[in-house]
Amino acid sequence: MSGTTTFTMIKPDAFEAGYTGLILQKFIENGFKIKALRLTHLHKEDAEAFYAVHSARPFFNGLVAFMSSGPIVAAVLEKENAVEDFRKLIGSTNPSEAADGTVRKLFATSIERNAVHGSDSDENALIESNFFFSHFDRP
Ligand code: ADP
Ligand code: MG
Repeated sequence: MSGTTTFTMIKPDAFEAGYTGLILQKFIENGFKIKALRLTHLHKEDAEAFYAVHSARPFFNGLVAFMSSGPIVAAVLEKENAVEDFRKLIGSTNPSEAADGTVRKLFATSIERNAVHGSDSDENALIESNFFFSHFDRP
């Protein structure tokens, strides 16, 4: 059975543009319950650690610079089938390929500055939740 937790960030582009309220509203309207919420600002080292899996990719340095360039909003969300449903709600990584009505289609400006993060597996949802909040792997 798939899990009920996913992790998201509203990235610096969307925060700076003032979309935080609209984006959170969209999450809630689509059945996601906010279990934890934090406005913070990643240091370069935090962004490097969070995206360590991408460290060999050509876009890594740009991604780290972008993600540490301004405030972000981190959140843990709960819903049945959370990871898959949330990735569907946010749309493709590249907003030009994202379906109409998805968060990235509505609010992202490029493949890098794509408004929101969404976990890609139940395991990563828990790892990422615990990166910002405590003990999300415990009942
Ligand atoms: P997703 O966020 O959809 O899971 P990835 O895990 O593949 O996508 O990539 C992590 C983040 O790195 C993306 O959300 C985006 O901000 C950035 N990124 C991915 N691919 C590229 C690329 N080709 N050029 C620039 N930035 C990218
Ligand atoms: Mg990813």
